[in-house]
Amino acid sequence: MGEALDFTLPEHVEALREEVRRFAHKEIRPHVMTWDEGRIFPEALMRKLGEMGMLGIIFPEQWGGAGMGYLEYAVVVEELARVDGSVGLGVAAHNSLCANHIYSQGSEDQRQRYLKPLASGQVLGTWALTEPGSGSDAGALRTTARLAGDTWVLNGTKNFATHGTVGGIAVVMARTRPGAGSDGISAFILEKGMPGFRAGKQENKLGMRASDTSELILEDVAVPAANLLGAEGVGFKQAMTTLDGGRISIAALALGMAQGAFEASVKYSAMRRTFGRALNEHQAIQFKLADMQVQIEAARLLVYRAASLKDRGLPYAKAAAMAKLYASEMACRVADEAVQIHGGYGFIKDYPVEKFYRDVKLCTIGEGTSEIQRMVIARHIIGESRP
Ligand SMILES: Cc1cc2nc3c(=O)[nH]c(=O)nc-3n(C[C@H](O)[C@H](O)[C@H](O)COP(=O)(O)OP(=O)(O)OC[C@H]3O[C@@H](n4cnc5c(N)ncnc54)[C@H](O)[C@@H]3O)c2cc1C
Repeated sequence: MGEALDFTLPEHVEALREEVRRFAHKEIRPHVMTWDEGRIFPEALMRKLGEMGMLGIIFPEQWGGAGMGYLEYAVVVEELARVDGSVGLGVAAHNSLCANHIYSQGSEDQRQRYLKPLASGQVLGTWALTEPGSGSDAGALRTTARLAGDTWVLNGTKNFATHGTVGGIAVVMARTRPGAGSDGISAFILEKGMPGFRAGKQENKLGMRASDTSELILEDVAVPAANLLGAEGVGFKQAMTTLDGGRISIAALALGMAQGAFEASVKYSAMRRTFGRALNEHQAIQFKLADMQVQIEAARLLVYRAASLKDRGLPYAKAAAMAKLYASEMACRVADEAVQIHGGYGFIKDYPVEKFYRDVKLCTIGEGTSEIQRMVIARHIIGESRP
């Protein structure tokens, strides 16, 4: 007899799911539309999440983290996003972009000074790769860092930085060698309050409106040499590796929102009546619900598989890109069907599916668009097929 493949999650992960689900129901659900309509960043809520260990999920306890893995992390982001995508996005960007870049590439001293306050939730993290002229083509970034004695002087503009306004610590990618392409990029840790470093325009967005997305302006910011992350010239490679892990959380974000939109549709279709019967007694609606659930479950398997590969120290970059691509496109389809099932009530703000429909779109764009995921997956396929 071969060993059976077990698709159930460990008990402690299901217990964590329950804990986060209860928290989201009590602390997030009542405020979702107020935050969305008012573009209010829920600072007090983020503090509570910090106290629960949710801002340091994937880091060892010695660094102020909760000492868990990516599987737990995916489930936490999924459950938060099931209620509010903006909160899920905040937890994701903080953990796997800013804090994880410092954890995986930082020195002991950098971890002590910056990872500890991030992982314990004392301060929010920002991670700034994208610029007005370079998003998908991140290697073309133009922010410069020039060495003057023992400080780097940074100049440039970053945009679309999650927690750009509210963040206290930022990892910023800048060009240290002009003309060297992606090999001339390095990563730096910046602190809020450094002279010349400030948030610029705060974006007014289609969705994820309770998430803070801002420009970052850098004008002759003097950054101590000790704040260079790793070696000079490896910042682009570091950023790509950071994104590989981050994609698991964006996939989980999409999964959670799809689940939320699906559950709302199941509930609504049982309650709403047309032509003398409940909506869910019409076969066309039943088929929609069936297709939604199948796609959500397929995405869930991809997300947990990518997380589990990472936790086991196995190659996971292709699996993460596959999970991100499938889960994000699936979530857009599911949210679309959810609005359709609600009819006119799906188009107004009294029901949650209108917001899911707007929020999920971010998942096919942030941390590498769907087109970029396909490029990453194709690169792996071609690389694997070389003799
Ligand atoms: C809400 C939000 C939060 C974000 N948070 C952060 C953050 O915290 N930090 C950060 O650094 N960035 C962040 N981003 C930026 C995000 O990662 C970029 O928007 C994304 O990578 C796409 O870059 P772009 O917007 O410049 O689009 P572009 O790169 O200009 O792409 C435009 C379109 O062209 C396609 N395209 C581009 N090149 C190719 C190609 N070679 N082949 C085929 N198609 C191609 C793209 O897929 C896309 O469809 C955030 C964005 C948003 C909207």
